[in-house]
Amino acid sequence: VFDRLEQLPDDPILGLNELISSDPRSEKLNLGVGVYVNDDGITPVMEAVRLAERRIHEEQVSKAYLSPRGRAEFINPLGERIFSNDLWIRRRDRIAGLQTAGCVAALRLGAEVLGASGIREIWVSEPTWPIHAPIFEAAGLKVRRYPYYKTGETGVLWDDMIAKLSGIGPSDAVLLHGCCHNPSGSDLSLEQWRMLSDHLKKRGSIPFIDVAYAGLGEALDNDLAGLRLLTELVDEAVVAVSCSKSFGLYRERTGALYFSGGSKRNVSAALSNALNLARTSYSMPPDHGGAVVAKILSDHELEALWRAELKRMCEKLNGCRAQLAELAEENGLNWGFIREQKGMFSLLPITPAQTKKLREEHAIYMPSNGRINIAGLSNAGCRHLIHSVVAITD
Ligand code: PMP
Repeated sequence: VFDRLEQLPDDPILGLNELISSDPRSEKLNLGVGVYVNDDGITPVMEAVRLAERRIHEEQVSKAYLSPRGRAEFINPLGERIFSNDLWIRRRDRIAGLQTAGCVAALRLGAEVLGASGIREIWVSEPTWPIHAPIFEAAGLKVRRYPYYKTGETGVLWDDMIAKLSGIGPSDAVLLHGCCHNPSGSDLSLEQWRMLSDHLKKRGSIPFIDVAYAGLGEALDNDLAGLRLLTELVDEAVVAVSCSKSFGLYRERTGALYFSGGSKRNVSAALSNALNLARTSYSMPPDHGGAVVAKILSDHELEALWRAELKRMCEKLNGCRAQLAELAEENGLNWGFIREQKGMFSLLPITPAQTKKLREEHAIYMPSNGRINIAGLSNAGCRHLIHSVVAITD
């Protein structure tokens, strides 16, 4: 049977990790994989998470099954933090969610539910996170692309984006990044969120928002302002949330999927479809990450600690951005856009051949589109990167 199968390629970004670990050069720089790293080059367990885990370890009396929906103590307080307390209360019956195995599972389930409700095409930004298209295609949706960002620029290609989305209708969904766009770091302004919401509402198209970096752009509330505005303005929306970056829970596979809609009946129907898909594929989400987030968000001190840690991570990213842009400009590179962008990623204006040269000649690793993980840059790393780029472009 298996001889009928084709061999599929490995994930290109995760594949980079293997190359890096076998590279003996001491100056090697890993700018590839999308995890936050601190000044020691480590992706730390957040202190709030460690304390929550300790309490769970002491208090947990059972590991009996949960439901396909996961923990209500996770879904509700997380929803409140994402949509804002005010919106969450006002829309109590019109936003419903479930806990998922990370944001990837939320995206897949959301796409399946959209497909079941008659959505045929989903529009994604060009560029976007490379896993979006395969997830949506696996759910049977046709993936279309709207122009979003041109490497080397600061802002988004707003006019081109809206022009491309001028023909969408009720069988189209539009994927948006809640904040800290991956891979460009360029986000819509609040005014653009407003105009886009009006456009989607007029065309009867549904937005699907991927929130994977909340709190890592400017601050939690600022980063979520666009999503909140859109939720107020459009009739229906689907929102996938990741706790991988914002809580540092990557491997614990912790995420959520929310449906926001015009009526209790419709939201409940969407949720029931997602729950049915969960039940027939993995039954219920892994518990641990959700239990940790629930513990943090139910305790003022733990939540304050988590918020302070998230703020420090955000400040570090913005500090790295400023430092890299400054050093680049001192060395004649026009990289001021990096200072203006948000979150963990920016795209360097270099060619795939140059990324290969950086890897081979300078032990600097990044995917061939030039996306760098800003958090991977220490002081020395910034200098090594800039000097190497200058060396290969001279
Ligand atoms: N969406 C985007 C835009 C991402 O960058 C990522 C992670 N790299 C994900 C979703 C997946 O998140 P999770 O680990 O929660 O599945």
